[in-house]
Amino acid sequence: MTQSITPRIIAVANQKGGVGKTTTTINLATALAAVGKRTLVLDLDPQGNASTGLGVDHDQRSRNAYHVLMGDISLDAAVQDCKIPNLSIVPSGSDLAAAEIEIPELDRPQFCLKESIEGISGYDFVLIDCPPALGMLTINALVASDAVMVPLQCEFFALEGISALVKTIERVRKNFNQKLEIQGIVLTMFDKRNNLSDMVASDVREFFGEKVYETVIPRNVRVSEAPSHGKPVLLYDHNCAGSKAYLHLASEVLKRENRSAA
Ligand code: ADP
Ligand code: MG
Repeated sequence: MTQSITPRIIAVANQKGGVGKTTTTINLATALAAVGKRTLVLDLDPQGNASTGLGVDHDQRSRNAYHVLMGDISLDAAVQDCKIPNLSIVPSGSDLAAAEIEIPELDRPQFCLKESIEGISGYDFVLIDCPPALGMLTINALVASDAVMVPLQCEFFALEGISALVKTIERVRKNFNQKLEIQGIVLTMFDKRNNLSDMVASDVREFFGEKVYETVIPRNVRVSEAPSHGKPVLLYDHNCAGSKAYLHLASEVLKRENRSAA
């Protein structure tokens, strides 16, 4: 029975803003859905960019990730279809900003999301789009996940701050979630005309070794235009370099999954 499948839950996290977390969440999710994997995007960023990028209007967010996180409603009650086969979303809500302050008041504050989505089934993948901070929302995402995917922008300061993220991942693993692994590092916004991009990419590969995906997401104007149309780039222009890269990333993710399952 397909309904009983336990999903692979992946947090897309980096405390820096503007590194491609949301773009990677939306487009990797769409690419996985396109190859038949039932995929759920959980938008845990109060800014709600993943919800907007997947075409969820603001007036359709009355039941959202905040209510799931706080245990007010079930996950199923907040899930919406995205008009894309195999792809669903739990949208963000502006209340999520308050959750950073409210969560620490609760019992077992690191486990709110985990407890709310415990037993989730019927999906192959759940991708959690994290906010640009290492606060309680990101901690909750890491505690609830099997793995974390880290987008790194090919810019000079890419590795700056990464040690804080790695330390947070290690702390979560030690204290709250022993199974948490680094799913992979994905280099984003690579500009082949810029030597710096190459230098950053080789530094990151030296530092993280084979955790870094071979696929590099190029800087591509079609990728940045797509969200304003409420569409993933794969639907906006499926032939552009950005679409091809995200499809390639999805195939690498699936390859790694099969290898670790074997
Ligand atoms: P984050 O979620 O980490 O804050 P976003 O995914 O929102 O980052 O990306 C930041 C900005 O960069 C957005 O305007 C997005 O459209 C743009 N962007 C992301 N990836 C690419 C890319 N590969 N090519 C061009 N623009 C990109
Ligand atoms: Mg974002």
